[in-house]
Amino acid sequence: MIIVMASRDRKDIEYVVARVEELGYKAHLIEGVERTVVAAVGDERGKFRLQSLESLPHVEKVVPILKPFKLANREARPEDTIVKVGSAQVGGNRFCVMAGPCSVESREQLIETAETVKASGATVLRGGAFKPRTSPYAFQGLEKEGLRLLEEAGHQFGLPFVTEVVTPEQVPLIEQYADMLQIGARNTQNFGLLKAVGKAKKPVLLKRGMMSTINEVLMSAEYIMSEGNNQVVLCERGIRTFETETRNTLDLSAVPLLKKQTHLPVIVDPSHATGHWDLVGPMAKAAVVAGADGLMIEVHPKPAEAFSDGPQSLTLPHFRALMDEIRKLLEYVGKTL
Ligand code: PEP
Ligand code: MN
Repeated sequence: MIIVMASRDRKDIEYVVARVEELGYKAHLIEGVERTVVAAVGDERGKFRLQSLESLPHVEKVVPILKPFKLANREARPEDTIVKVGSAQVGGNRFCVMAGPCSVESREQLIETAETVKASGATVLRGGAFKPRTSPYAFQGLEKEGLRLLEEAGHQFGLPFVTEVVTPEQVPLIEQYADMLQIGARNTQNFGLLKAVGKAKKPVLLKRGMMSTINEVLMSAEYIMSEGNNQVVLCERGIRTFETETRNTLDLSAVPLLKKQTHLPVIVDPSHATGHWDLVGPMAKAAVVAGADGLMIEVHPKPAEAFSDGPQSLTLPHFRALMDEIRKLLEYVGKTL
């Protein structure tokens, strides 16, 4: 249920929040430009008791949200959420490009990549320090040293950075370094991990699982938000289908569909979606036109020598050229980097 306030006075809002909590619900305050809403979330069975709150002074109306995701629902917040990632912004009329290597491999590799992605217009650096690999024998990441290098490169080029969190135990350490915490496709429904990043004080990049439906992604976002962290960005990165020519199948319709259903920003990762560097550019450009709020792109100075995901990584000159094309398309959709 959402309780739409007729007043924006702190005391009136606090009064309604207290009544909601008395009824055994958790109250989440959603303050938009146009209206202030108190979302009451909890056991659906007693929701009709919440309807009685309509008689309270300063309450405009009490309306049910029929979809299972409540806080992520656009009905709870009609205007777009804008997520700040350090100095960068995801959502609104800004287009956010997050770029960098799949894995942080060395200082030299990361610095060279960060310099180019910054100069080309990316506003967030990406890089894996803790890698969720299919094989336990594959490179698992530089771990804490990787975080340290990301911090150094980020500092040097004025780029906030996003990096993946693989277990709940890693959250306190990674939160100290990173500007944004990434939940990878393999962990989209790792509910313990979602709750842990939901308690963190950093924004979260939530990737769509390779087998997640749109509804399931939104329920995963709801897990994070229900713990108090409403700074969530969704990422379409392809789903698994019968097609084997591409690593995954990019579901571009997820972008307008998600944006219709949720106020959260939506970005696209054409690198993991396609698995082929030469398909990254066309899909990145299609994502801009489909209404995405940003992109996540893997870039490597020497893709042939990459420890992970070389075949889908753009070289530095290819990334630079793609950003020039994206800039032109952004004019068409009325956004800026
Ligand atoms: C990544 O972005 O580093 C990654 C592992 O991607 P995904 O979780 O989408 O496979
Ligand atoms: Mn990768």
